[in-house]
Amino acid sequence: MRTPTKSRLRQFSDTVSELEVEGAFRTLSEARKLEQEGHSIIHLEIGEPDFPTPDAIAARGVQAIREGQTRYTPAAGLPLLREQIAEKVSQDRGVMVSSDEVVVGPGAKPLLLLPTLTVVGKGDEVIYPNPGFPTYEAMIRIAGGEPVPAPVSDANHFQLQPDRLEECITEDTRMIVINSPSNPTGAVLSERELKSIASVAIKHDLWVMSDEIYRQMTFPPRQHLSLLSFDGMKERTIVVDGFSKSNAMTGWRLGYGVMPQQLAEKVSLLLVHSIGCTAEFTQLAGIKALEMGEESSIAMRDAYQARRDLLVKRLNEIPEFECEMPDGAFYAFPDISRLGRSSQSVADALLHEAGVAVLPGTAFGQKGEGFLRLCYANSIENLNLAMDRISHWVQCQTKD
Ligand code: PLP
Repeated sequence: MRTPTKSRLRQFSDTVSELEVEGAFRTLSEARKLEQEGHSIIHLEIGEPDFPTPDAIAARGVQAIREGQTRYTPAAGLPLLREQIAEKVSQDRGVMVSSDEVVVGPGAKPLLLLPTLTVVGKGDEVIYPNPGFPTYEAMIRIAGGEPVPAPVSDANHFQLQPDRLEECITEDTRMIVINSPSNPTGAVLSERELKSIASVAIKHDLWVMSDEIYRQMTFPPRQHLSLLSFDGMKERTIVVDGFSKSNAMTGWRLGYGVMPQQLAEKVSLLLVHSIGCTAEFTQLAGIKALEMGEESSIAMRDAYQARRDLLVKRLNEIPEFECEMPDGAFYAFPDISRLGRSSQSVADALLHEAGVAVLPGTAFGQKGEGFLRLCYANSIENLNLAMDRISHWVQCQTKD
């Protein structure tokens, strides 16, 4: 008989053995523990709007539940929602998209994973930005692919350099992942960078997954450009977008992907066998959000922009910190290497000694060493308080 310690019930597949918890969630639970012990913590770790879901959207969801719209829907989403998304994407990106090319899912994350599972096979290489959103590496590994991190750095305003991209390409390359505006750097890819990514993708016949979840959080005068709009890209681009960030709907779970119809059909198959479908009332709330237009998203974006200005100014007042002005999303990514300590040890110390939860840049890959990520989806008051605490902590470290 097997002894309990040797039980095969404790052996997991190679796929999951390689996976790690997303850094933001790890820090959040550590911070919550400290709070339970009575410590005051300011949360700048988790990337989530601090605004409530706009009233009319929430009311539509509640009404739908009351009316019993709590049933299965077609796997790829309610036809009306897919049509409205297709219309909106066509308008925003200036390319005709049909509803057959839209797949709705519970959040943007399934629309990262399922298309990756559909196009990436064992040994296929996928290039993704480093530092970058940790799910990219995870989804490539889950698909059996080889993650190939493409370094981005503040020396180039965190833009993916065409020559660095070309260096990463081999005959096994299958897909490039881009993310603009970026989590964690806030960088927005310029027209020049996008053109060069498009030409590399076309030259080497690659898929490009373009994660545009922060599109509506691009700060004027910068404008968001989608790879989908570039010549020859529609047939090879998977756009990932959703309602989580732009409509403050993270917990509702509503996202979508836009991709060529044949791929959309395959992704829908994976969706039906894994998730089934997205909650009907959530989709109806999404329809309401689209019908309402972008007014509330723009108001939130403007608030984030004011908070960004404050936070970046205050970060740059610390002599040991240097922070680029991010053009989008709601993250600041200061260089803290002058402190002469690892990002992880600085993030740990800020949490335990200063009561501010931030993430080490290394939560986003090796190239994040020397940086911290601070999410400024928080009140001006809390941001000021957090910066008072951080400045004081740095002063104490640098005192003789
Ligand atoms: N893509 C990026 C870059 C993100 O930062 C996030 C969430 O933090 C997602 C995708 C996932 O979005 P959702 O919550 O809609 O699954």
